[in-house]
This record gives sequence, C-alpha cells and structure tokens, in this order.
Amino acid sequence: MKDRGILIIVSGFSGAGKGTVMKKLMSEYDNYALSISATTRAPRTGEQDGREYFFKTVEEFEAMIENNQLIEYACYVGNYYGTPKEYVEKMLDEGKDVILEIEMQGTMKVKEMMPETVLVFIAPPTAEELKNRLEGRGTEDSETIKARLKRASEEVVYMDKYDYLLINDKLDECVENLHKIVQMEHSKVSRNINKINFYREDLKIFSEGE
Ligand code: ADP
Ligand code: 5GP
Repeated sequence: MKDRGILIIVSGFSGAGKGTVMKKLMSEYDNYALSISATTRAPRTGEQDGREYFFKTVEEFEAMIENNQLIEYACYVGNYYGTPKEYVEKMLDEGKDVILEIEMQGTMKVKEMMPETVLVFIAPPTAEELKNRLEGRGTEDSETIKARLKRASEEVVYMDKYDYLLINDKLDECVENLHKIVQMEHSKVSRNINKINFYREDLKIFSEGE
C-alpha cells in the first residue's frame, strides 16, 4: 500500500509568484495534487470555475461553513477563501502530496489541527519587486494593489512561523527547491515509523535464526 501523502501549505504575499510556482511544479512532477479553494471573490479574466477556484456567492460559501465542508477558511481583503475537505483527504489517502496555496490565518488553523503539515513561505526578492509583479500582473486596480501591499506588511509577522522560506527570484530554482523540500520531508524519521517497525521485525527474525 502507498504511504499517505504529505500536506504542504504554500503561502506568501500576494504577487510573490505562488500561482506561477505551483503551475510549473504541477507540470513537471506528477505526485502532487493542488487543492482548489472556494472563494467569494470575482473571477479574474481567464480564470475558470473549478480550475483556479470554485467561485461562490457569500450564501453558498456560508452554507459550506455550516455543513462542515471546509478544512479551514479565512477572510482576505474583503472576501472569503476556504479549503474543501473531501478532495484533500481523498488525495492524501491515495498517497499524493497535497498542496494548499492559502494565506496565513488559514495556515495557522491547519497547523494546529494537523501539526505534521509542512509550511513553506514564498517571498519575492524585495518589496519593490513585489509591487512590480503585482502591477505587472495587471489583474487588480490600484486600490486593490494598495490593500494587498498593506496586507503583506501585516503578514510579515507570521513569516517566522513557517518551516521553510523560499525566495522566488529565479522561477526554475524556486520550483526545484520546493520539490527538494518535499522529497526531504518524505525521509524524516517521524514519517517512516512503519518502515522502522518493519526493519525491527525483519532483523529480529534474522538474528533469531542465526
Ligand atoms: P501570487 O499567486 O503569489 O499572487 P502570481 O503567480 O500571480 O503571484 O505572480 C505575480 C506576477 O509575478 C505574475 O505576473 C507572474 O508572471 C510574475 N512572476 C512570478 N514569478 C516570477 C519570477 N520568478 N520572476 C519574475 N516574475 C515572476
Ligand atoms: P487571490 O485572490 O490572489 O487568488 O488569493 C488571495 C489570497 O488568498 C492568497 O494569499 C491565497 O493564498 C489565499 N487563499 C487562496 N485560497 C485560500 C483558502 O482556501 N484558504 C485561505 N485561508 N486562503 C486562501
């Protein structure tokens, strides 16, 4: 039977490049499953319901909260965002490493419930580059960009709660480093108790047989 997958959270300031890094990671490796969140924010040009997000009305989102269908949810710059439970559990059971690309309030809730979750923070090289990326993306008006930069200045407080910090300067390197982190996490002793027990049993049989 395949080992249960690892749950990985990727957070970072809006515009740091999380979505870009995820896209590349998914296209290069096949053992990842990216959770698709539900949100009440409006789709950006080019975004499709069920691909980038499940786009919901506030009423629909609140019904999901009521029915306990979300692992976590948070309010971010005036909109709800939340992680649907069923898909994540199913993928972990199938041995996939599941990535949640979520903000920090939600991250802290998940870490409390599931302490074995790996927390990765993706940051841009500088604040100026962050502003350039947000403006360059061209998906938000200047007021929203301002609100997102303000939110980023509040979010720095949580950076030291993460397990890993990745600087997204060269995209390829950032993707490779993220993949390496996950590979290394698979080797942690705490994630391999079953294998250790197997060696103990196996060696006992051999040593008794000699
Ligand atoms: P996030 O998901 O963190 O909000 P995006 O993935 O949408 O950020 O990236 C924001 C903008 O920055 C996009 O226009 C993207 O093309 C660009 N970008 C992402 N990674 C890099 C990088 N390593 N170097 C330069 N630009 C990048
Ligand atoms: P965006 O509107 O740029 O797609 O996302 C805004 C913020 O919401 C980002 O920091 C993103 O990581 C976060 N986010 C996306 N989905 C979820 C979710 O399911 N839960 C939480 N807590 N945050 C989310």
